[in-house]
Amino acid sequence: LFITFEGIDGSGKTTQALLLKEHFESKGYKVHLTREPGGTDVGNKIREILLNPAFSINYWTEAFLYLASRVENTINIIKKLKENYVVICERYADSTLAYQGYGRNLPLELLVEMNQIATFGLKPNLTILIDLDPELALRRKKSFDRIERENIEFYYKVRKGYLEIAKKEKERFIIIPGDLSKGEIFKRIVEEIERKNLG
Ligand code: C5P
Repeated sequence: LFITFEGIDGSGKTTQALLLKEHFESKGYKVHLTREPGGTDVGNKIREILLNPAFSINYWTEAFLYLASRVENTINIIKKLKENYVVICERYADSTLAYQGYGRNLPLELLVEMNQIATFGLKPNLTILIDLDPELALRRKKSFDRIERENIEFYYKVRKGYLEIAKKEKERFIIIPGDLSKGEIFKRIVEEIERKNLG
């Protein structure tokens, strides 16, 4: 079982991914929790480059770096899935479409193909989109620095992108309103997973 979390910065993905890991573990599953960019030694180095505010990175370079991190992470995910782990990943291919495609205006059809290469065609069984108004995300202190650096309009485009992607792939996605309480969000995630007979 392969589950991904998506959503703009400050939407609460990290918190919910951790809760979901504990949920599956309490049911006796082995869980591999990972994230992008990052998740592997190489991926973490790439993450450092991507998140270094001293660098001004061309949008294509940025896209290739996220994808390079994904190649490394996906190889590991495939291995863990073969070992019967439940894999939970914060951000995956949809992030590239939402941020680099809808956010940065790079051509979506190319990004779809690049994702296909970077993921070896591996798709999540379920993607949990935590949908949140960027204005609200901005008020959440932790994400403030990051979001502040980007134009708020960028995050509106990313959010809209996510919602469009989710609409196109209704079966794979569940959309949870990110302005609910932490407990309520988690409750809804578990309900949806049970409804879909995934765990
Ligand atoms: O989810 P996380 O906070 O780890 O993401 C790190 C940063 O990378 C975020 O600021 C996010 O906006 C950015 N990002 C991006 N394009 C992606 C994935 C993440 O700009 N495809």
